[in-house]
Amino acid sequence: MIPTTCSVALPLPSSQPYTYAIPQGLADRVGRGARVVVPVRSREMVGLVLDVGDEPSAELKPVLLAPDPRPLVSDALLELAEWMSRYYAAPIGLVLKVMLPAALWGASRLVAELRDAGAAPGGASREVIQALERAGGRATAKSLGRRLKRPVWGALQRLARAGAVTLETEPPDLGPAARTERVLKLARFLPTLLEREQTFGRAARQRAAYEAVDALGGEATVRHLKDGLGFSPAVLKGLVERGVARVEEREQLRDPFADLTAEPPAEPTPKQREAIAAVRALAPGNALTLFGVTGSGKTLVYLEALRPDVEAGRGVIVLVPEIALTPQTIARVRGVFGDTVAVLHSGLSDGERVDAWRALAAGRRRVAVGARSAVFAPVRDLAAVIVDEEHDPSYKQGELPRYHARDAALRRVRIEGARAVLGSATPSLETWAARERRPVAALPARVTQQPLPPVHLIDMRTEPRVPEARAVPWSRALDDAVGSALAGGDQVLLLLNRRGFAHFLQCHGCGHVWECSSCSISLTVHRTPPRLRCHYCDHQEAIPDTCPECGAAAHRDRGVGTQLLERWLAERFADARLARMDADTTSGKWSHQRILDAVAQREVDVLFGTQMIAKGLDFPGVTLVGVVDGDTGLHLPDFRAAERTFQLLAQVAGRAGRGPRGGRVLVQTHTPQHYAMTAAARHDFEAFAERELAIRQSPPYPPHVGLVNVIVSGVQEQGVARAAVEVAQWLRGLIGVRAEGRVEVVGPAPAPLARIKGRWRWHLVLRAEDRAWLGRIAHFAARRAPHTSRGPIRVVFDRDPLSLL
Ligand code: ADP
Ligand code: ZN
Repeated sequence: MIPTTCSVALPLPSSQPYTYAIPQGLADRVGRGARVVVPVRSREMVGLVLDVGDEPSAELKPVLLAPDPRPLVSDALLELAEWMSRYYAAPIGLVLKVMLPAALWGASRLVAELRDAGAAPGGASREVIQALERAGGRATAKSLGRRLKRPVWGALQRLARAGAVTLETEPPDLGPAARTERVLKLARFLPTLLEREQTFGRAARQRAAYEAVDALGGEATVRHLKDGLGFSPAVLKGLVERGVARVEEREQLRDPFADLTAEPPAEPTPKQREAIAAVRALAPGNALTLFGVTGSGKTLVYLEALRPDVEAGRGVIVLVPEIALTPQTIARVRGVFGDTVAVLHSGLSDGERVDAWRALAAGRRRVAVGARSAVFAPVRDLAAVIVDEEHDPSYKQGELPRYHARDAALRRVRIEGARAVLGSATPSLETWAARERRPVAALPARVTQQPLPPVHLIDMRTEPRVPEARAVPWSRALDDAVGSALAGGDQVLLLLNRRGFAHFLQCHGCGHVWECSSCSISLTVHRTPPRLRCHYCDHQEAIPDTCPECGAAAHRDRGVGTQLLERWLAERFADARLARMDADTTSGKWSHQRILDAVAQREVDVLFGTQMIAKGLDFPGVTLVGVVDGDTGLHLPDFRAAERTFQLLAQVAGRAGRGPRGGRVLVQTHTPQHYAMTAAARHDFEAFAERELAIRQSPPYPPHVGLVNVIVSGVQEQGVARAAVEVAQWLRGLIGVRAEGRVEVVGPAPAPLARIKGRWRWHLVLRAEDRAWLGRIAHFAARRAPHTSRGPIRVVFDRDPLSLL
């Protein structure tokens, strides 16, 4: 068959692939997985070929170009994309868009060059020739179209066939920039907002420039700061004069990880050896759960298990939650696999990303390390995918196509006959529940024979507080512990998770929290009208004055932010060197690394911040971990509130006592009796999981059932509420006809996060034990339900939601 037509996925929200004609000269290049440039209305776009056919093509618009000599996307990755499109009810073009580096979707430009004006046929084509002559013999199709006020692709195609013009593509500019350039480098490190206020005072632009450079990893080219970010030369000069930065002439860096130190690997312990053998023994297509406590040496297991594959020339992928937070893991991967490693970091420039991508696709690099989207790395002859900290919420993409990298990895290894390892000290309940059908290798103790640190729950209902701390919950016990750790020259980690809602109702006498009796999530306090309201089923009740458990007055909780904590710490421990790590101090991907380096170099005494500091850090100097408010996440109106709380406490506790001086953990809480607290205090994941799995039986929540969160949003509150009811009715109707009794609709109700970026949000939840039917209903509804085509109301289908906020 000589293909004459092809179906092309475009990175657009429409779900259907488009069909184009294949011009004769391109038949050998246009195949499944190939990139093509095609006309879309009056634009040219890059698309990916899903399929070719040999139907009549006279009526169809032609493919303009096929820029790559070989298909860019492998069959296996296309198959994965097709699965994701079905499973997550997402348009295939948007799935493929997240699979390829952005630059490969870049607007390739179609350029026409005049060869032989005499060969041109008459009519409309002549005008194109004349326009081309006026442009000096060479012009883009787009500019010709603008001049003539109509698309010219058809005419150009005819002219090209007649030999009057040649057509070529100019790919997006990905070449290296100038060899040397002027670089502005930070000379002083201001890890707290307080220091920034003191240093910059009213010089807001200088502070902004400082933060921009910090976000870019502590250095940036002067050209980028001026042209790209719009900082004036005077502002940059101001930074230099303040001694905060200096300017250097420097050669361009292509591999930003070349400088990371590579750690040589250690000799595995007997337990590690068993786990390594279990991974190697996995049959193709299968997965293993590596359940190892914090500090048990999981990284070494991954690397040693993979070594024979990599040495045999096969490819592997190592997924880490947030690459900026895991420089140590990257260093270890490099320590074992050296130059074969490509690090896919979100801080890479578009050019660097394409370089890394092509190096993997060509087999010049065989090990891909990266966050979520690295699961799509085009490594050849894939032997294994490692998902480190598989419970981490960052593996789920928050936007279309809303995939989970762990589940994509499981699917990918099945398609490619590779193996997967899911590692965690606190596995997700989904992974834990799968242990009947998936082998588990356990590492129950730390490598160093150091015990896990003791965890003390500090009961804030009764514990004496330090009065000077005012709104900051600060017990005497924590105060003494921080004071003596600092006096002993040790490092301290303080966690304050700000992601808390002030809106639940809690009794300060006994800690009782009001919950919905049919959904087992906390009720949310509403002011107008004053009610307690369930954000899943919309159950409502009056706000009580007293607690039914103990009779004391009920209280609304107030949240405390990192800002307040910072001021307090600076006042209380004036000599300590503080560093703060949260979304405000780490606006860019590189600033984490600077802060973590400073901690590793012992230039920081107290590192405090949000859950960012709880991830896999390995700092032997840390002897004390304090959790300022252990309850912040516990009463979120979400079914994973307890799971997240347990994970966070267990993970942050795991940062303590990794060195010879041991360590301990203090958790301040109003609910020390809660099973998430007591289990975390005993480092007992299995006890927590058993309890939580039982609780999720009734009402049923994952992993016992599958969920799809259907979010309806818009700028008009009333309209959103009406639309949500309409969508729910439509879904109930559909399910009644197609899947009676197999899929349930819960809601609609206002979403707990009732308004985001000016859009009001309502939601309803599809729930089913039968995942296949759940998928079918979601896939169908995502295209057909009311308001799913363009309009002021947006309807989003989130399959396997991480939260229902
Ligand atoms: P996990 O990821 O399980 O929390 P890590 O992989 O970070 O644990 O390992 C914890 C520490 O133990 C690291 O400093 C690592 O270098 C070290 N380590 C791991 N395996 C060994 C071993 N077999 N011998 C000595 N040290 C080891
Ligand atoms: Zn409810």
